[in-house]
Amino acid sequence: MKRHSDFSNLYIADHPLILHKLSLMREKNCPRVLFKMLLKEIGMLMGYELTRNLPLTTRPIETPIMTMDAPVLEGRKPVIVPILRAGLGMVEGLEAIMPSARGGHIGLYRDEETKEAVEYLVKLPDTEGRQFFLVDPMLATGHSSKYAIDVLVKRGVKPENIRFMVLVAAPEGVRLLLEAYPQVRVFTAALDEKLNENAYIVPGLGDAGDRLFGTKHT
Ligand code: URA
Repeated sequence: MKRHSDFSNLYIADHPLILHKLSLMREKNCPRVLFKMLLKEIGMLMGYELTRNLPLTTRPIETPIMTMDAPVLEGRKPVIVPILRAGLGMVEGLEAIMPSARGGHIGLYRDEETKEAVEYLVKLPDTEGRQFFLVDPMLATGHSSKYAIDVLVKRGVKPENIRFMVLVAAPEGVRLLLEAYPQVRVFTAALDEKLNENAYIVPGLGDAGDRLFGTKHT
């Protein structure tokens, strides 16, 4: 992933498989089953990058030959937190590489008039000493992402221990989020052009939740 030159904590995918899979997802005729599968695969591929700088420590182990100080992940089990509902689509991919991670959920919907986030569910494990992986495919206005980070921070999570995995981001949302939380690391498969008047990302891929769950036919 490449660090963006203007947004200091924004990382953008440059892996050909991620870019190719995202293009397939963007196509309006991409079938739901394929959309879902690709989102999961991208979640796994991006997860590899998100976990690259997880803190390590060592512990003594015995190999069949001798004892050694072996590198192991430091701290308590990490937590994967999808923002409901579209975030669910990237969880399985992350779990494939972090099978013992704990799970949390933050349920938000967007008030269509104000475009503000409205909370309907928060379930999290205890936060002490854990790394958090927040997941939402679309970073549009940034209101719901910022709200979700507010929730984590109020529960005691340090912003520097939050990694945010996004599929498609709009500059407006990235700006809002990183101005509020410059220490949060945001990883996206693509940084698109802008938002339209309905706060959809342009060119984007439409409504990720509807396309993932088949709740609306376009
Ligand atoms: N949420 C979506 O699912 N798509 C967008 O383009 C913006 C917000």
